[in-house]
Amino acid sequence: MLSLTADSVRMQATARSKQEALSVLCEILVADGLTTPGYLQGLKDRENQSSTYLGQGIAIPHGTPDSRSSIKKTGVRLVHFSDGVQWNDAGDVVYLAVVIAAQSDEHLQILQSLTRALNDDMAIQIQQATTAEALIEALGATKKPLRLSDALIITDSLASDVDELYLQAVQLLKKQGVISSLFLPKHTPTQLSDAVSAVILEEQQGIHQSALAMVASAKQALAVITAEKSVDRAALSQLLDTLMSQSLADAIRQKDTQSILQLLGIQNQANWPSASVVLANDHGLHARPATALAALTKHIDGEIKVAVDAGEYVSAKSLTRLLSLGAIKGQTLTFIAEPDTQAASKLDEIIDAVRSGLGESVSPVVSHDTDQTSDVSTINNSIGIKTGVQHKAINASQGLAVGGAHIIKPVRYHYPMTAQFPEAEMAKLQEAIAAVKADLQVVIKTAKNPQIAEIFAAHLALLDDDEMLMGVKEGLQEGLSAPAAWHAMIEELASAQAALANQLLAERAQDLKDIGQKVLSKLVGETQAAPPDAPYVLIKEDLLPSDVANLDPTSVAGIITAVGGASSHSAIIARALGIPALVGAGQSVLEIHGGTSVLLDGGAGWFVVEPSDEMIAECREIQAARREMMRKAALVAKEPAITTDGHRVEVAANLGNVADTANAVASGAEGVGLLRTELVFMSHTQIPDIKTQVADYAQVFEALDGKPLVVRVLDIGGDKALPYLPMAAEENPFLGLRGIRLLLAKPELLRAQLTALIVASEGRDLRIMFPMIGRIEEFFAAKAILDEVLVQYPHDQLQVGIMLEVPSAAVMAHQFAKEVDFFSIGTNDLTQYVLAIDRGHPVISKDADGLHPSILQLIHQAVTAAHREGKWVGVCGELAADPDAVPLLVGLGVDELSMSAKSIAMTKAMIREMQHSQMQALAMQALECQTAEQVRQLVKQL
Ligand code: PEP
Ligand code: MG
Repeated sequence: MLSLTADSVRMQATARSKQEALSVLCEILVADGLTTPGYLQGLKDRENQSSTYLGQGIAIPHGTPDSRSSIKKTGVRLVHFSDGVQWNDAGDVVYLAVVIAAQSDEHLQILQSLTRALNDDMAIQIQQATTAEALIEALGATKKPLRLSDALIITDSLASDVDELYLQAVQLLKKQGVISSLFLPKHTPTQLSDAVSAVILEEQQGIHQSALAMVASAKQALAVITAEKSVDRAALSQLLDTLMSQSLADAIRQKDTQSILQLLGIQNQANWPSASVVLANDHGLHARPATALAALTKHIDGEIKVAVDAGEYVSAKSLTRLLSLGAIKGQTLTFIAEPDTQAASKLDEIIDAVRSGLGESVSPVVSHDTDQTSDVSTINNSIGIKTGVQHKAINASQGLAVGGAHIIKPVRYHYPMTAQFPEAEMAKLQEAIAAVKADLQVVIKTAKNPQIAEIFAAHLALLDDDEMLMGVKEGLQEGLSAPAAWHAMIEELASAQAALANQLLAERAQDLKDIGQKVLSKLVGETQAAPPDAPYVLIKEDLLPSDVANLDPTSVAGIITAVGGASSHSAIIARALGIPALVGAGQSVLEIHGGTSVLLDGGAGWFVVEPSDEMIAECREIQAARREMMRKAALVAKEPAITTDGHRVEVAANLGNVADTANAVASGAEGVGLLRTELVFMSHTQIPDIKTQVADYAQVFEALDGKPLVVRVLDIGGDKALPYLPMAAEENPFLGLRGIRLLLAKPELLRAQLTALIVASEGRDLRIMFPMIGRIEEFFAAKAILDEVLVQYPHDQLQVGIMLEVPSAAVMAHQFAKEVDFFSIGTNDLTQYVLAIDRGHPVISKDADGLHPSILQLIHQAVTAAHREGKWVGVCGELAADPDAVPLLVGLGVDELSMSAKSIAMTKAMIREMQHSQMQALAMQALECQTAEQVRQLVKQL
């Protein structure tokens, strides 16, 4: 990225003419190794086409596109001509030439920085600068504006005190990406006026932007200002003056949102009419098209603003503001116009002008988000979701879905903040809690899905939490009403939970909010609007577990949430219910109008608003074909999976619940390839004793009827905690006391579990594996405990293996292969550790692709090592059921694939269609790829 820094400045240059100045500039570029001397012609040709004079004594000479072959390296130099150089016939004199050698359109960024100097009328400082630093300072290139946006202002908060206001403000800042999610500093508010106090967070770690968030309740307002080092201090001081003003205090007390926004210099633009267009100009919105656009809008009555993609709006009438957008070809310009003015009626005309190139000839653009070619898209709403094209989100649950959007926005509960009689309020609250508990008990009893029942059982337990009720009681004693005290308590607990570093625990804040809302709606008597009858796509900021659990999969075609990670409870339940789902799609999805058609692919991670008829037809065809394939596959699910050239692959089930074994066998499982015993433990309210464990495992053996059972001993830690086994908080739980490390620290736990397994097996086909083995001595230590147990409870057929999920074990597979009976490759963790990408990360987990060649190399190495020693290899991570991965895993020689029961029939059907020798060749090719994407493309060519 190009930037304006002091070391790219050359002071005291002289030239008698523009031609001589261009030569001087080119010599500097050549001397600095940026271009060859041939670039001079490009600089001259560009000036001949039109002068690069920008204003305020600044020019930005750069070569024509043809001259880019003379550029060796992209760069920029700021050359100061203290005597000035006449640049054009109009007599404009240049003191600063910003000469650019850019292989593409990076110079637009430079323009963006320079426009601040143009706005601030800094010509004199630029002309008189004597040092590089003074010049950069004069350009204002290092000052960053302060973000003032209505998205960061809440004027109707129900917060009861300044601490609550602070938590809400911090949440707002996090949600808007101003601060990182780990940021929750201590605060000491300063009173600025009788209604406004402020917390200024300066230059702290975790601040991404300088911004103002303000949360106002009926009584008071708290402003939280984040300030980077580079913040525009003048703007900051002006903002503080406003915050101290009596007029703002008055507006807050009168709950006058319009005036509050106006005083803060924020326009409430959310309801302005809008229209969007993709910029098709080859070199972006550079000076010529920007001039044409400003000329078109300048004389229109009423405000017209424009933003690039989801960025800040600037006036479309100002040339310098337009240039400051730095818009490049393919980006979307969204225009908004002041309602009820001439501007609003001119939007179509402006869109047409931009679409036609603003005086330049334009060709169609390939959108950034999609493979499709389109030059123009329309907008569905005022904040800019392009219709008809793919938008990315995090894939949470596989499958295609199409339906009308059903948007659930937060319910606003109305209730008095204060009450006179605390006892009466407490009674009301207890009545509401009892009613919610009764509802929950019905849901738990009738839940078809055990995961749903487990989550609501946890909610029941939360409602019994005495500490929480104590907190509410305090609020009631202070004069709050029952709903106000309850809301305050829940918000406080949820904020503290959400601030936890552990992603999975942080996501549990939603469970608190969920019960919070249930009780609140009982107290206040307000409920959500009923969903439509026809299959719909549910869109919500974040799904509470009860939203999903109350869903009827036959009427909910798909789910999209604005926030959230793939490991949230909602995502887990959506997967269990088989509803295609996307999470983390961004706030703009909440602006989609109800009923608008939405298409989503929960596996590939994209959605389309207002898909074309062809897209819908294709989706329906794929869904129908898939249903038919599943029907056919289910008929032969119990047949073995043998390739066309006679190679058999075992297909087994992953289980987390002993009661599901029979269903897995009925679905075609040839055994259990992974019993996650920590999940079995989670169904108990305390550590199950040996007898209880024996009963659990015996249930699995019975249902398997002689088929093999691969059991993983407890894998606790990381993202999995047992409520009754408290563990110290860790900075990096995935790299901490997890899996075998914890078991070796608590050998009695391991010994009891091994005993229970062997006793329950009664000599049947049992295969035990240890999780998270990284070093061979860990395996030896665990095996020694097993050997002790075997002395008392012998088992002739027992196989002992390890999960291959820590990179060191995969690299040392040749050593482990001599010691173990089998490997089961846990691709979920192996991928997270090899690529160093947190598997539950809400943003980057999508890049943790198990088909990355690095993972395939390790699988190849492990299979080769194991087979050399006559041992077998399974894969039990999510990759085992990924249709792109199956041919490669089979080709690499993996002997067993273990997956959720739902995927077994289809995977077996797929293997039966494959030729093993062809898969072997394909796998060898995949090992040579550079990226996961290339591997996926390779498989698609099959
Ligand atoms: C894995 O890591 O791939 C695996 C199967 O284990 P878990 O997902 O339970 O960590
Ligand atoms: Mg694992």
